[in-house]
Amino acid sequence: MASKKRVLSGMRATGKLHLGHLVGALENWVKLQEQYQCFFFVADWHALTTDYADTRGIPENTIQMVTDWLAAGLDPQKSVLFLQSRILEHAELHLLFSMITPLGWLERVPSYKEQREQIRDKDLGTYGFLGYPVLQAADILIYRAHYVPVGEDQAPHVELTREVARRFNTTYSKVFPEPDVLLTPTPKLPGLDGRKMSKSYGNTIELGDAPEAIRQKVSTMLTDPQRVRRSDPGRPEICPVFGFHRRYSPAEVVAQVDADCRTAGIGCVDCKALMAAHLITALAPIQERRRAYESKPQQVWEILVEGSKKAQRSARATMRQVRKAMGMVYPAAAGPAGRAGKRPQRKQAPVTETPTVTPQ
Ligand code: SF4
Repeated sequence: MASKKRVLSGMRATGKLHLGHLVGALENWVKLQEQYQCFFFVADWHALTTDYADTRGIPENTIQMVTDWLAAGLDPQKSVLFLQSRILEHAELHLLFSMITPLGWLERVPSYKEQREQIRDKDLGTYGFLGYPVLQAADILIYRAHYVPVGEDQAPHVELTREVARRFNTTYSKVFPEPDVLLTPTPKLPGLDGRKMSKSYGNTIELGDAPEAIRQKVSTMLTDPQRVRRSDPGRPEICPVFGFHRRYSPAEVVAQVDADCRTAGIGCVDCKALMAAHLITALAPIQERRRAYESKPQQVWEILVEGSKKAQRSARATMRQVRKAMGMVYPAAAGPAGRAGKRPQRKQAPVTETPTVTPQ
């Protein structure tokens, strides 16, 4: 495992995941763990950058999300799955990086302006929100990751991480490799209403939805608006239902639907039912694993605790180098242990307790 290149990625603790997450990230993560040494983390501190005012759901959201990770096929024997807030070294490195990161770099990040304009119901004029990419740089660099798998919209964040690494390396000494972007194809699955699938739009199909719920949700999906009557020919290329067929139905079914839609040989009700059946079949193995983990949330938590221990070992090794590079290394404390030249053992934060998040 040690000879493999290291990949790091994370997700905000948003709770149960939907098909958009599966197709846009998780399926790729599952593949990456076969080829790389993967570190995947729950970004619970990142959730605070926008949701600092209401933190109640974060622990439960964390467990639900990791349950979906495991259900989708992430394997704790192959990947390190961990919780950001269990590793206080992320906060230390974030603070140290904040000393060398010019404000202009942060104000230039495209998503900063965009989100401040779009999210009107929260006050995002905070230090934490502006500094979010610095925390992200700390998350990535503390593991000395070689690659960060991202969609194109996230590439500027990784560029900022590279700039922070460069600035640290030139100001002090070379500690950090500059991580490369692993541009991953991020096929998008539309939501039920044809927009991007997103919890905030209420247009999702969750990985854990029961077959009946899937059939019901699919029955409400938007179709080609040109098909007003059953006899109207349709355009599958613009129909969200067809997008799902392409992903989940066998090739011969996709070809048949394509032809039948164009000639009004199939009605949308039947077409949706057919798609729902293939989707339910495709999700069955994931749902079976989800049910097994759902019944044992303690096991999910223990996987995170074990992963956090592994991640912390790596983070601590980096932080020793960082402090040394910055000249922030002090003599051992005075006293018998100090005089004997032995460093007194510092107590480290336990990693086995239930996660808690304190509102700021
Ligand atoms: S027949 Fe199927 S692909 Fe064609 S418009 Fe209706 S739902 Fe969409």
